[in-house]
Amino acid sequence: MPGIADSPQHTPLDMAIVGSGLGGLAAAIALRRAGHRVTIYERYDFGGEVGASLSCASNGSRFLQEWGVDVAAAKPVVLRSLIRHDWTTGQVSGVYPLGDYRERFGADYNNFHRIDLHQHLKHVATADEGEGPPAVLKVWHKAVSLDPIQGNIVFENGVRATHHVIVCADGIRSQMREQLGIVPNVSASTSCCYRCIIHADKLRELRLQEFCENSSIEFWGGMGINKIVMSACSDHEVVSCYCFYPAAKNDLTEDGWNISTTGENLAGAFPDLDERLKTLFRNAKDIKMWRLYNHDPYPYWVKGKCCVLGDAAHPMMPDQSQGACMAMEDAGALGILFSPKYASLSVAQKLQLYEDERKPRATRLQESSKRARTDITERIGWSSANDRPGKLTIEEVCGYDMHAHIAELAQKLDGGDITCSS
Ligand SMILES: Cc1cc2nc3c(=O)[nH]c(=O)nc-3n(C[C@H](O)[C@H](O)[C@H](O)COP(=O)(O)OP(=O)(O)OC[C@H]3O[C@@H](n4cnc5c(N)ncnc54)[C@H](O)[C@@H]3O)c2cc1C
Repeated sequence: MPGIADSPQHTPLDMAIVGSGLGGLAAAIALRRAGHRVTIYERYDFGGEVGASLSCASNGSRFLQEWGVDVAAAKPVVLRSLIRHDWTTGQVSGVYPLGDYRERFGADYNNFHRIDLHQHLKHVATADEGEGPPAVLKVWHKAVSLDPIQGNIVFENGVRATHHVIVCADGIRSQMREQLGIVPNVSASTSCCYRCIIHADKLRELRLQEFCENSSIEFWGGMGINKIVMSACSDHEVVSCYCFYPAAKNDLTEDGWNISTTGENLAGAFPDLDERLKTLFRNAKDIKMWRLYNHDPYPYWVKGKCCVLGDAAHPMMPDQSQGACMAMEDAGALGILFSPKYASLSVAQKLQLYEDERKPRATRLQESSKRARTDITERIGWSSANDRPGKLTIEEVCGYDMHAHIAELAQKLDGGDITCSS
């Protein structure tokens, strides 16, 4: 791909990103590298991330690599296998080695502490060093209204801004999405989730150090709602657990993702679970409840100069561990489409291709994440065989070549009249 200077038609644009979560930051990195002036608007004085792990399969990690992100600086544990345990005894009942994963898919299966990754991406997006102009992060800028045709944003603090393109990356409860006329259809899931973390020192004290030494995602349960998902992150210094249970079991009418509870409550929710996990739960830190919702796919993602990205575009159940990976793919698609290679396309065409490229694939992940909620065999990684109609495979998700797909879509646009710099 030629550099920006090689393409006379490539004009740097003023681009806004609303929301500095993982998706917004990834988009800022991709777009600054394509030579654009990026402003990120965040409603708080930080992009809120929580103490928990985030597994980033090759389809997300590939873009981090492509953008020159020093992945090791975000202290991932590189995953080598998936392990299943018997719910009660904890005995290992199945191991799926990921084998030559990096060779097959071109990038590692990284398991990050979400806060490590968020801090690192914020640095990469805004630092002076790196390709393209550094993105400017404006905190305490809560967007309250948007004119998608004119490209105007109004913020709660009275500031107004106009941009050539506005990327709405304001999360699962996106208000900007509604400004684009998209009305979400949401229903409460019958699953709830506790998350907690525990540090390696504490695990060693409890003689449970095996859990921080493993380079695996470990599962208990998963056929039905009850499921524990455990993994080490932050250079093996932290172990994170997601604990799914039936929403009907509690009186959790309170909404949100940051509701505190105690280790006793957490252990009490799973009376017949592996004793080692219950010991871990009683000694865990930062124990929070997470209410989960089903979101139907949206009819469109683009209006005027605006598009949605990440959870604002395709909120999904967490059971494929793909929500943030899909946000990174969205960012990757914008970076490709707004690069010199596609300089001959108008902004409207680029945004239309963004939707055409991203929406079908993200919708497939939304659907399969719903199925994987109560059937762990639907989760990619357990089997690469396409043994059920429509089942998502690891090859489809991790072996995806977005550059080739975008090139194909661009050729079809306007009856193949589009000329791309190679
Ligand atoms: C239990 C659970 C486990 C998960 N595990 C994984 C995993 O292992 N792997 C994976 O890939 N994904 C996982 N996910 C999904 C992943 O967490 C999300 O898909 C991802 O974090 C979404 O990022 P985002 O940037 O789109 O949204 P968010 O992280 O929600 O960021 C939105 C940002 O916008 C800001 N904002 C909101 N409104 C405004 C406004 N009006 N103006 C300005 N700023 C605003 C917010 O403050 C926030 O900073 C999991 C999700 C859950 C619930």
